[in-house]
This record gives sequence, C-alpha cells and structure tokens, in this order.
Amino acid sequence: MNELQFEILNGLQGDPAVFAFMRNSGEALLFDLGTIDQLTQRDLMKVRHVFVSHTHMDHFIGFDRWLRVNIPHKRLLKIWGPAPFFERVQAKLKSYAWNLIEPDQLRFEVHEIRADGSVATALIRNTDGFAIHEQEELGSQDQLTILHDGSILSAVGLDHHGIKSIAYKLRNPDKLKFLHDQLPSLGLSSGAWISQLQHNVKHSLFDEVLKVEGKIYSTRDLGTKLLRCEPGESLVYLTDLSFDRLNVKRLQDAFGTADRMICESSFLDQDRSRAVAKAHLTSRQAALIAIALKVKDFQIFHVSTIYGLGAEGSLAEAQSFFEELTGLDDQEKQEAFEAEFKAVEKLKANSQ
Ligand SMILES: [Zn+2]
Ligand SMILES: [Zn+2]
Repeated sequence: MNELQFEILNGLQGDPAVFAFMRNSGEALLFDLGTIDQLTQRDLMKVRHVFVSHTHMDHFIGFDRWLRVNIPHKRLLKIWGPAPFFERVQAKLKSYAWNLIEPDQLRFEVHEIRADGSVATALIRNTDGFAIHEQEELGSQDQLTILHDGSILSAVGLDHHGIKSIAYKLRNPDKLKFLHDQLPSLGLSSGAWISQLQHNVKHSLFDEVLKVEGKIYSTRDLGTKLLRCEPGESLVYLTDLSFDRLNVKRLQDAFGTADRMICESSFLDQDRSRAVAKAHLTSRQAALIAIALKVKDFQIFHVSTIYGLGAEGSLAEAQSFFEELTGLDDQEKQEAFEAEFKAVEKLKANSQ
C-alpha cells in the first residue's frame, strides 16, 4: 500500500495489535490494544485513533500504556469498540487515583458500535470523575470517521461466542493519476500547470481554463486526456469470530472487497472442532474469508499458543489454502465454502 504502512506488533502468536501509519498525513492508528510495549514512545504518541475489536483481555490490555504516554499532553483521544464500551473505558480510567492532574487533562471521545450498526458517542473527562456524557446524535458503522488524508474507516459487528467482535476496514482516498506518457501526443511538456489541473479536477472546477505554453486549454479537456481516477487501496482487520454463514455474509455486505487483509488464524485445519468451540477461525476458514472479500494480500496473526513454536506451520498452511482457493473457478469456490459451512454446522449440532 503506498500511503498506508502497517505492522503486526506481536508477531504470529502474541496479543493482537496492529500499528498503521499514513505516510501522507503522518497520522497513526491502532487496531486492537493487546500488549503494545514493542511500539516506541514516539510512534505511540502519533496514535490518536484506536479501533478495538472487543474487550477480551488480550485485545484491550494495552489501553493503559496508550493512556499513560498521553497524560501530559491534554489531547483529545478517540477510541471505538463494541457496546457496552463506554463503561469499559470508564472502568479502566476509574481504576487509578487522579488527584495530581489538572481539569480536562484527560479527554476521551468514546464511540460505541451497537448491534444495529449505529454508533453512539460519549465524552469522558477527568474533570467530573469520568462521567459518561452521551451525545444525542448517532453515527453509522458505514463511516466511523475520515482521517486527515481522506481515508475512511468503517466497521461491522460479528458473532464471537455470543458477544460482538468488530471487524474494521480502512480505505485510502481515490487518487488522480497523471498520465505522463500522454504528454508528447498532445505536444505538451511538464510544468506547474499540472498541479493546477489536478487541483481543478479534484475540486470539480471543470470549466476553469489553463494557460499552458501560451495556449488556453479547458480543464475538462485536459483532465479527460491526462488524468485517471484510481481507487484507493483498502485494508481489512479481522479477528476473533466464528466461521458461519451469517458472519461471512455480514463481512461481504459491509466491506464488499478489500486489497489487503490481516486476519486471525487461531487453529490448524485439523483442529476445526477447537475453533468451533472457541469461536475462532482455522487457517482454511481464514483463507476462505480472504477469497470471499477478493483479497490480494492476505496475512494471518493470533495463532493459538497450543502450537508452541509451530506457528510457522499455521502460516504455511493458511498461505497454501489461500493459493489453492485462489486457483479455483467460481463454482469450485462455492463448493469449498459449502463444504466448510457444513463441516462447522455438523460439529455445532454434535456438541449440543
Ligand atoms: Zn483474541
Ligand atoms: Zn476474543
């Protein structure tokens, strides 16, 4: 991804936490707050947006470090997570004594993603003992926020053994690509006018004229010949969910497709029954979801510690399923999904 760089902080088996950095705007964010000790203080200070999948401890234990580095800076911090989330954040904050800080030194904008897809917001500050001030207006999981560089965050709630685990998608803004190789055929050469042309098109000023090498051109005319709109790249962050028809459908409906995906792959294919019992994915199921979202770059994490030093085996298995499934035609892919859904449903029926 050109503008977006990311790092899975704790390798294949450690706590889930992904640091994402937007090169264009210098903004950074975190998906999940497992242990974040590996992140330098400098990088962590750049993080003002955090997106939590759910509050199982391995996804939320890093909150305290994020809080701690921000205590002196009086910045507004924004965090998203599944309902009930206001109380979870409040409980974290209330567990310490705060008699030495100033009013409004700690300010959080907390966003709670609810089962119906709406998003409630509350302000929580140290000034009044971290009371929850819920705002009237509701947002939507289709657009949680827009970053300074124009990237859009969206979300969807998935079933994880009776609680919701939130999957997130980050989409970079569409880009206008300048077609340099078309210049000679138009008898033009590079110059400052190119940024003027890009500016006009970006702001829909198609009727503006441009003076290029002494001649007058219309923005519409040059824009059509020299600029091409390329869709922004996207990243899906996905962890802790059951593989079932409803979760896969929710993901497809909410996200459509994605260029890149970071996905849990807790268990090997042979341990499907463990995956069903714990509401996690196997490597085969993770690869199937990558296929459902037409992902090009697929990376796994959150491999179960039952495999000890054998996590590399999970990585190899997930990648080989991904390659194998990518090579199938649509009918065969459909059959692969159906076989996996049925195998899971059979295990669930047997355990009841
Ligand atoms: Zn987990
Ligand atoms: Zn979990």
